[in-house]
Amino acid sequence: MGVASRYIFTGVNSITFTQKFGTADDCLAYLAAVKWEEGYTCRKCRCEKYIKGSKPHNRRCLRCKYDESPTAATSFDKLKFPILVAFHIAFSISTRKKGMSSIELSEEFGLRQKTCWEFRRKLQSVMGIREHEKLSGVIHTGTSTLGKGDDSPDVDGPAEISLAIENVPNGKVHASISGGSPIDMALFLSNYINHTESTIYANNWKGFAPEKKAFKELDHVSLLPTKDKKHTLMHIHIKNLKNWLYGIHHHFSKEHLQGYLNEYHFRHNAKSEMDIVFDKLIVRLVK
Ligand SMILES: [Zn+2]
Repeated sequence: MGVASRYIFTGVNSITFTQKFGTADDCLAYLAAVKWEEGYTCRKCRCEKYIKGSKPHNRRCLRCKYDESPTAATSFDKLKFPILVAFHIAFSISTRKKGMSSIELSEEFGLRQKTCWEFRRKLQSVMGIREHEKLSGVIHTGTSTLGKGDDSPDVDGPAEISLAIENVPNGKVHASISGGSPIDMALFLSNYINHTESTIYANNWKGFAPEKKAFKELDHVSLLPTKDKKHTLMHIHIKNLKNWLYGIHHHFSKEHLQGYLNEYHFRHNAKSEMDIVFDKLIVRLVK
C-alpha cells in the first residue's frame, strides 16, 4: 500500500500562514495528515482498519472502537486554549528570527503569560537535536558559563554548557547543559557527532585521553588543541546566544535552560531549511 503524500505548509510569511490556517478545522486537518502520514494504527489494539470517528478528523478503530482525535497523545492534547492559537504560536516561535518572549506571546495572543510559558516549554522539549541531525565535518567544541557576570539576568546560579559547532558559516550547532568535566564532554560528543566523518578540535581540553578510551566512537576522532584564533565562530556564536537569552528572556532557571538552548539552536540549525521549519516543528509535536 502506497502512502499518500500530504500537504506541507512552506514559507515564513505570516499572511500566507493566516490564510491557510483560519479555523480550528484547518489545524485539525493538518494534524491528522501528519499523525497518520504512514497509515493508521489503533493506539489501543494495533488494528489498522478504521471508520470515521465522532468528530470530523477523528478515526474510530474498527475492532476496539477506540475513537481517536488528531490531538490525542500529542503536544496539542488537552490544550487550555484554542488550537488555532497554538498553531500561530508554533509558527511565530519557529519562524521569527529571535522567537518571542512569553510576555510578547501573551500580548499578541491574549493568553495569560503562564499559559504561554507552559506551551513554549512543550515546544522547547521537542526542539533538541535528533539522531539524524548529528554534526559532521570540522567541529569545534568548547564550554561556556551562562548566568554569570554583569550582563547576566536573574538566574539561580551559573550553569556550565558544552557546545559543538560545525566550523563553517551557518554550520549546525549543538549545546547542552553539562558538568563541564571531560567525561561529560566525551558523552556529549559521542551522542551528537557523526564520528566517522568528523575532525574535532577542542579548546583547553586536558585530561581527555582516559575518556576517549571509554567511548569507542571517539577512536576515529583526532582531538587537537585549538588556538583561540581558530575558535572565532564559536566565540561569535556564544555571544549571539547570550544576547538572545539575556536580552529576550530576562529570567530563566537552570532547570529550564536546556529548553532555551534547544529553541535557539532549533532555529539556528534550520537556517538552510527555513521554508519547512514550521512543518518540522509540527511533526515533532505530533509524533
Ligand atoms: Zn483498536
